[in-house]
Amino acid sequence: MTTTTTIATPRVTCPSWCCVTEAEHRADLDNWEGRCHHHSRETAFGWSIVSTTTPDGQLWPEPGEDAVQIFDGLDVISLGCAQARAETILKLIYRARRA
Ligand SMILES: [Zn+2]
Repeated sequence: MTTTTTIATPRVTCPSWCCVTEAEHRADLDNWEGRCHHHSRETAFGWSIVSTTTPDGQLWPEPGEDAVQIFDGLDVISLGCAQARAETILKLIYRARRA
């Protein structure tokens, strides 16, 4: 008697901003050792986000990298720099809403 083993391809859970299709994620799983690299579209300011997760959405960074990376064009900026920019934007939004 012969037994066969079928390995189910996992479903991929993406953040709402991810523009990668599930089929693309599944095709890349072997290339990225089971990780999913979620990409956002680039904003008008040239910023974009990449996060690295397990297929079910748990953060799983590449060794030596942050699980979430913020790009300014093609350059990765530090999370501290990204946070400072985000705080500046939030302050401007709060100020605008009070005006
Ligand atoms: Zn995704």
